[in-house]
Amino acid sequence: MELDLKLTGCRALTMDPARPAAHTIGIWQGRIAGLDEQVTDLPAAETVDLGGAVVLPGFIDAHTHLAWNGRRTIDITGLTTVAQILDRLTTPGTGWIEASGYDRRIMDHPLTALDLDRISGDRPVYVADLSGHACVVNSRVLKQLPGIESDGWLTENEQLAARTLRLPYSLDEITAELHESARQVLSEGITMCAEAGIGAGLIASSPLEAAAYQRAKLPIRVQLMVSAHVLHDVAAAPSDGIPRAIDLGLHTGFGDDMLSLGAMKLWTDGGMMARTAALSEPYQGTNSSGQLAESEELMRAAIIDGHHAGWQLAIHAIGDRAIDFTLDAVQEAQRQRPRPDARHRIEHCGLVRPEQLAQIAALSMIPVIQPTFLHAYGDDYSEIMGERRAPWMYRGRSFLDHGITVAGSSDRPVADGAPLRAIEFMVNRNSSSGRPIGPDEAITVEEAIHAYTLGSAYACRKEHVLGSLTPGKLADLVVLGDDPRTSDAIADVPVLATMVGGTFSFQRSS
Ligand SMILES: [Zn+2]
Repeated sequence: MELDLKLTGCRALTMDPARPAAHTIGIWQGRIAGLDEQVTDLPAAETVDLGGAVVLPGFIDAHTHLAWNGRRTIDITGLTTVAQILDRLTTPGTGWIEASGYDRRIMDHPLTALDLDRISGDRPVYVADLSGHACVVNSRVLKQLPGIESDGWLTENEQLAARTLRLPYSLDEITAELHESARQVLSEGITMCAEAGIGAGLIASSPLEAAAYQRAKLPIRVQLMVSAHVLHDVAAAPSDGIPRAIDLGLHTGFGDDMLSLGAMKLWTDGGMMARTAALSEPYQGTNSSGQLAESEELMRAAIIDGHHAGWQLAIHAIGDRAIDFTLDAVQEAQRQRPRPDARHRIEHCGLVRPEQLAQIAALSMIPVIQPTFLHAYGDDYSEIMGERRAPWMYRGRSFLDHGITVAGSSDRPVADGAPLRAIEFMVNRNSSSGRPIGPDEAITVEEAIHAYTLGSAYACRKEHVLGSLTPGKLADLVVLGDDPRTSDAIADVPVLATMVGGTFSFQRSS
């Protein structure tokens, strides 16, 4: 047997307890053929000496938004005055003016429709809030939204209504966005992304989104979560017990190792940044507790029907009240039809009261967390949660102590998507300003890497082929310039190369 490629001089952390370290990796037909003495004597078409570089399994981002991230809108990140924003938005052309990166919390005055009218003429304007849960539009857009009273600031369902006016994007536009994002994530060591919701809902681009992924032939692996909004009544045989499904009965697992259907995505509340995450007690210093996304009856029906139709569920729940609701609905679904390996996920799982930990464990649910949220926004989130609740945010240690599998993710572009940044936060629990946030929730570097490799592979039902450098698995790996286990600046460890299926798809130019 001749290997396609032999990597020598590796300091590999395989994440496989059966063989945790390796110096040589043999690759054949896109898979790991063997390690060390299993392959050292085999000939190889090509041998690459990595010169002692650290090698990890490719990072898997279990919740990200590739199309949204790659969208070429006017970037207003960091702008703090209305004048600065209007200046940036003044562009020649026709049709929609779209901007992103708005952060109402840092503005001297909040941006309004009347402000936008001053530069928009007859063009509709859509300024997306950083949170993904809100936007500002001009009067031209408001006029097309009868029944909505607003100064231009729209959240949740009102935002969705405004967004729907802009849709759909063309397949060409979406395809370009996807390639842009794939290039970026590869440079950060990511080999697979789970796209958190296509087809409908807040972050949808077109009802034909899956077609864009199919024809884009991206250099990364992608799993598509399908919005529960596309569930519809089906005339299945009564014995199937499936009242609603998506067309053709497609569900989680369909596809191949490059592109597959993942979970069904549901939304039960908003987010902390927009103060719309549903809490059991008000945001600190206010009398608002956020809100559930839709009526409990509607959301419960979607969870139960999705479960019956064979879907893994990925349920967006950030506030502890939304998590209460989610746990209750999943318990009911599992009671009606037990599916021990359903692996239902809680997307974000942002604020977990101590007593909810055992409930999450009992239902074998998987928190899909975004550690970088707390690096970037932890100071603000700590203020609005208050001293007692702040340590309950985006937990680490207490999940692991309860035997819960944790999956790492970014929610890019809501926060920076680099996995090493997230891993650093999971280990040191410091916000970007240095404020400790739930320091008791810190986990070890190996545990944090596990969350971004095997943990997220498990959350995507891919741990049999991904997540560790194990003979027989797909040859996805990342080559690093330093060892995160000994580095005191993990986020700054350089990504030297990223391999997907035995091919180096990214190599850092030196
Ligand atoms: Zn998301």
